Amino acid sequence: MPPPMTREECLARDASDPLASLRPQFVIPEGVIYLDGNSLGPPVRASATRAAALVTDEWGAHLIGGWERDGWIDSGARLGGRIAPLIGARPDDVLVCDSTTVNLFKLLHVGVALRPNRSVLLASDDDFPTDRYLVEAVAAQRGYTVRWAPPRNWHGATLKDVAVGVLSHVNFRTGLIADMGAITRALHDAGALALWDLSHSVGALPLDLGACDVDMAVGCTYKFLCGGPGAPAFAMVGAHLHAGVHTPIPGWLGHARPFAFAAQYEPAPGIGWAVTGTPTIASHVLLDAALDVVGSVAVTATRHKAMELGALFVDIVEGELPGVFTLHSPREPELRGNHVSLGHPDGFAIVQGLIARGVVGDFREPDVLRFGFAPLYLSYVDVHDAAIALVDVMRTEEWRDPRFSRRGTVT
Ligand SMILES: *Cc1c(COP(=O)(O)O)cnc(C)c1O
Repeated sequence: MPPPMTREECLARDASDPLASLRPQFVIPEGVIYLDGNSLGPPVRASATRAAALVTDEWGAHLIGGWERDGWIDSGARLGGRIAPLIGARPDDVLVCDSTTVNLFKLLHVGVALRPNRSVLLASDDDFPTDRYLVEAVAAQRGYTVRWAPPRNWHGATLKDVAVGVLSHVNFRTGLIADMGAITRALHDAGALALWDLSHSVGALPLDLGACDVDMAVGCTYKFLCGGPGAPAFAMVGAHLHAGVHTPIPGWLGHARPFAFAAQYEPAPGIGWAVTGTPTIASHVLLDAALDVVGSVAVTATRHKAMELGALFVDIVEGELPGVFTLHSPREPELRGNHVSLGHPDGFAIVQGLIARGVVGDFREPDVLRFGFAPLYLSYVDVHDAAIALVDVMRTEEWRDPRFSRRGTVT
C-alpha cells in the first residue's frame, strides 16, 4: 500500500479540487475541523439571509397571506421534489414533513395495512434506536411480532410471513452500506415491502430508489443535507402503493380538502396524506437554502472525494498508531458510507480531547469514535491535520485529563 499523502501533497490536491470552491458557502467557526456533519451539517451561508427574509419579507409583510402568496402551503411537496433527484425517486412520491421518527411510524403502519394476513416486521438489532423502538411499537399496536436478523440473513425462512422489512441503508455505527437492490428484491420475492431509512445516505451516496424498486423510504435532512437542527425529514411512498394507503395519523392538513373542514377524514391523494399538521416553515426555508448548495453538485463527484478523505484519515491513523484502534467500519471505502468508526475503550475521552483541539467528531456507545467526511466543506489538508491531531492526542495521552471524561447530555 502506498504511504498516505503528505501535508504538502494534500495542499496540492486541494488546489486542484473542483469541490474546494464550495467551502466558502458554509459557516464553520475559525479553527474548527468539522468531522460531525454526519450528525448535524453546518449552516450554508445563505441560511441567515433566507431566515431573515422569511420573517421580514414574507411573514412580516403578508402575515397569514404567506401561506398562499409565499407558497408555504406547498413547501413540503416542493422540497420533496428537490429531494427526489437525490434519492432517485419520482418528485410526486416524496414529501418533506415531520421527523424521521414520525415518518417511520406512519410508513410502518401504512406498510402493515398494505400487507394484510402477515404477522412479522423484520428489522436488524444493530439498527438506529428510533428504528428499533418503532418497529417494536408498531408491531405491538398491530398484533405483529418483530423478527430481528442482520441484513446478511434476510433470505429464506427469515422472510416468512414478513409484511415489511425496515433497514438503514448505511449503519449509523459502522457505516456499512446495505445492498439496497438485493435486499429489496429478496423482500419482494417473499411478498414483503421494503422500507429504507436513508438518514446517513441522502446527500452522501448515489441512490436510485426507482432502479431498486423500493416501496417506501424515510430520511433526515439535517445530516449531510445541512438543513439545520430539527430540519424536517422526508417520506417516500412509491406510486404503486398510493391507492391503498391508510395513515395512522390522519391530520387535517393531509385531508383531500383541508379547507372544507369536513367531519370525516379523507386522505389527500399521492403522498399528500403524509402531512400530519401545519409544517415548520422556518425550518423548510433553511432546508431550501441548504439544497441550493448541497444539491448543486453531482453526488458521484462528492462521493469519490468522501471515499478518498475517509481512506486518508484511516491510513494516517493506522500508519502512525498501529493496533491502537479497531476499525469498526469496512476497510474498503466502497463498502462504507461517508463516515468512519474507530473502536477504543476510552473513545469518549479521546473524542473530547480532540474537540478541545478543534477537531469535532462524536462518540457512540459502547466504544465508537465516529468521524464524518463531508466533502463539500472539508479539504484534504483538513483531514490530514485532523488525523495528526488524533495521533497527537494519543501519543501525549492528553485525553487522560479528567475534564475529558465528564459527560454532557448529548454525545
Ligand atoms: C439520525 C437518524 C434518525 C433521526 O431521527 P429523528 O426523528 O430525526 O430524530 C433516524 N434514523 C436514523 C438511521 C438516523 O441515523
